[in-house]
Amino acid sequence: TRKRLVIGNWKMHGQLTGNASLLDGLRTGAPAVSGCDLSVCVPFPYLDQARASLQDSVISWGAQDVSTHEQGAFTGEVSAGMLADFACQWVLVGHSERRTLHGETDRLVAAKANAALQAGLTPVVCVGETLAEQEAGKTEDVIARQLAPVLALGAQQVGRMVLAYEPVWAIGTGRTATPEQAQAVHAYIRSQLTGLGVPEVRVLYGGSVKASNAASLFAMPDIDGALVGGASLVAEEFLRIAAA
Ligand code: 13P
Repeated sequence: TRKRLVIGNWKMHGQLTGNASLLDGLRTGAPAVSGCDLSVCVPFPYLDQARASLQDSVISWGAQDVSTHEQGAFTGEVSAGMLADFACQWVLVGHSERRTLHGETDRLVAAKANAALQAGLTPVVCVGETLAEQEAGKTEDVIARQLAPVLALGAQQVGRMVLAYEPVWAIGTGRTATPEQAQAVHAYIRSQLTGLGVPEVRVLYGGSVKASNAASLFAMPDIDGALVGGASLVAEEFLRIAAA
């Protein structure tokens, strides 16, 4: 049995003052939500703020990207060891915004996932097809291609990861995949995981998840939780998703 996991991806939003009330709201509201692991992935500068606010709470925290390198002359990069230093439990890797806007390749994403594992973090590996790819009937091909170098890391590594299916056409568009559409892709991802011998890896859905559509998504057998963008910036809404 896979415990539900709901992760907020703040993306590049927030400032100290607003974060403080958001984190406060999460910390105080979270104990009422049972049977669900809760986490927020915040911008790097706010990791220490998240840690200070959440360390005695049931909510964990993480980052949105990580370097493949341990240390060195890599200006602007942040290593997995640095994230571990701030007690991060998670790090997103291969978010579609990083793949699209920063040219991250499938191999680079796998290397980032591996770097995270080496430092004791759980990588949340994001995959998903674009609208054009979906309309061309290429969804499974794209997911298979994105997953290939990740699965090649082997069962021991993949067994310690979380995967997230985020169809690019559903991100920030208000256009969620229907539960059946998402389930079909999740079932495909599950078949890949089962083939590797790690069927218990959690697979989250992301893309316009709201309190109003979360329950129907979570009712699907292979959807183990959500990766939430916009709706994670309002504490009550985020907690309602977790409780859905
Ligand atoms: P939205 O929930 O804003 O559509 O974003 C989804 C996402 O990209 C989470 O990583």
